[in-house]
Amino acid sequence: MKPFSIAIHGGAGTLIKGMMTPELETRYTTALNDALEAGYTVLEKGGSAMDAVEIAVCVLEDSPLFNAGRGSVFTAEGTHEMDAAIMDGSNLKAGAVTMVTGIRNPVSLARDVMDKSQHVFLAGEGAMKFANMLDYKIEPPEFFYDDFRYKQWQEIKDSDKFQLDHSVRKDSKFGTVGAVACDASGNLAAATSTGGMTNKKWGRVGDSPMIGAGNYANNKTCAVSCTGSGEYFIRAVVAYDLSCLMEFKGWSLEKAASEVIYHRLKQIEGDGGLIAVDSEGNIAMPFNTEGMYRGMKTSAGKKEIAIYT
Ligand code: ASP
Repeated sequence: MKPFSIAIHGGAGTLIKGMMTPELETRYTTALNDALEAGYTVLEKGGSAMDAVEIAVCVLEDSPLFNAGRGSVFTAEGTHEMDAAIMDGSNLKAGAVTMVTGIRNPVSLARDVMDKSQHVFLAGEGAMKFANMLDYKIEPPEFFYDDFRYKQWQEIKDSDKFQLDHSVRKDSKFGTVGAVACDASGNLAAATSTGGMTNKKWGRVGDSPMIGAGNYANNKTCAVSCTGSGEYFIRAVVAYDLSCLMEFKGWSLEKAASEVIYHRLKQIEGDGGLIAVDSEGNIAMPFNTEGMYRGMKTSAGKKEIAIYT
């Protein structure tokens, strides 16, 4: 059996030690641990990287602490519009959805787009028709209501501002969630899910559901899930760029991941981070912000759950 491993994130941003109560910190680390263990258990039983990343992201989507699924931020209209993507590195198949509403686990809908449609990316009304056809339960708006998110939105709702879940207010929490895994057969997969940015409008779509920008997997190189200021991640095509540095320059996962986050993204003033894994199970988790909710576990016995630098 080859080595296997998994990494997860719950968003990167202004996370400063001491600004969170110990109780809240425990809630975050518990939620991260639950997601990590759910994904790792799949791998340990010989399951696929795809199943591992899907379940890990579902656990994070079900937690109101993160800006994805249940905890999604409010749009300018006071609704929740969610984006998600999943990619299988063994065959470069991918599925993604954007601007979906009422879906408890957008990552599973993205996987259904991959498995059950002939397409890769479905948006808005069309994606909802597809979900209805598959008998997805549509949750009422209350399911996605969270006091903290509501206050966050109220503060900027009458302005032209839109806000990353993790910026502006120093005590703000966020963010997008993601998972990457390498299974015991050496197959890689990546999944990412988000509610996007508070007060977003005009059908704004970030990097998370865009294959190659916020999410990418290729057995030849790596699996990547990003978090941060989506507009910059799109412009820098971050996830695919990392893969290209490994494929065409022969760089290690660590070196390529550091280059895109600390240099290429910084050069255009983008902030955020990513998690990535290669087919030997190596993991990289760089971020250029104060913190990133993250966790990793490998079959070699290494485990880490962390928030700050
Ligand atoms: N990247 C996400 C977006 O721009 C936000 C985040 O990572 O928190 O939609």
